[in-house]
Amino acid sequence: MKIGVLGAGQLGRMLALGGYPLNHQFGFSANTKDAPAASLGRVFLAKKKIDNIQALSNFADVITFESENTDAEMVAQISKNVAVYPSKKSLFITQHRGREKALFDKLNIPCAPYQMINSLQDLKAGIESIGLPAILKTATEGYDGKGQFLIKTTNQINQAWQNMNGVASILEKFVDFKRELSLIAVRSIDNDHKYYPLVENKHYEGILRLTIAPAQAVDAKMQKTAEHYMQILLDKMGHVGVLTLEMFETSEGLLINEMAPRVHNSGHWSIEGANTSQFENHVRAITGMPLGDTKLRQPYCAMINIIGEIGTTDKVLNMANAHLHLYAKAARKNRKLGHINITAQSKLELERSIKKLECFLPKSFF
Ligand code: AMP
Repeated sequence: MKIGVLGAGQLGRMLALGGYPLNHQFGFSANTKDAPAASLGRVFLAKKKIDNIQALSNFADVITFESENTDAEMVAQISKNVAVYPSKKSLFITQHRGREKALFDKLNIPCAPYQMINSLQDLKAGIESIGLPAILKTATEGYDGKGQFLIKTTNQINQAWQNMNGVASILEKFVDFKRELSLIAVRSIDNDHKYYPLVENKHYEGILRLTIAPAQAVDAKMQKTAEHYMQILLDKMGHVGVLTLEMFETSEGLLINEMAPRVHNSGHWSIEGANTSQFENHVRAITGMPLGDTKLRQPYCAMINIIGEIGTTDKVLNMANAHLHLYAKAARKNRKLGHINITAQSKLELERSIKKLECFLPKSFF
């Protein structure tokens, strides 16, 4: 089939790399000719957005997107002529933290106490009821910790609100979590579900740096609980494709932080680490193919993000159990330029391999 992707970043690039072996073709709406995915399919330059989206729709048998910040109205328009998966419903909910949290509440999925904030008065009242510390986040468009302000004391309230530039925001109680986990799952057009194992994610300055798959010390109950939350969300939204749930493990159990209607950075390990990668499974789901097995190929796996500069990659290329993925992006501070997947037969081998690649990770991780 011909798959049209709204966006042409590294996620689109890896979707194409996952989909070509299944004999699919790809087209991308891109802002520039040298976008990460541009060399992997037809490029519809988004200068005259409407014309190019129309051209992409004419090209594609099915359309998907690589970001929740995709215009939901545009997706609704496109859906009149060509199937779009995930649908506008999933996109509309997941692109707004308030709508997302309201759905969690409705489905009894636990998350941190929160209040929607539209003014300084709201913020003061929110802090009164939620308490401090708390995090103020923009309701839309935030990623990698951008658009967030950690409020520790009441004399930071004015500064926090100024920081939001008057946009609709959400105030969340600061969660004293043990660690951050995520669950990736995929749902097919005919309602089959597959779940990857829970993975552990380590962030530095708001950016994901290391994923360990599977997360250690996860019992069957915790995996089942996370899968239960995932299943009701997938079904409620009628989601088709990959859905990611980011969560906190606390002493009282799991609290869901947010969800993403797409393949996710914390699932990149699955390219070499799982029997079917998240990218191939997303492509399978949106093209009506049977979903692939999500088990690990080896007992242990890790993913290290390459951030800001690529550095010396020979070390990676010389390791039998390491796999380098570069995204064809120019180096820039805090930019995701690629990642390294490590596979291992034992925990010790995994730890030693991560240590060998410590130059790609923050010093504080060791
Ligand atoms: P988010 O954009 O919501 O994924 O937040 C980025 C990062 O900020 C998360 O991965 C957490 O490390 C941290 N964070 C977000 N919300 C909270 C919270 N309510 N309590 C504690 N830490 C948080």
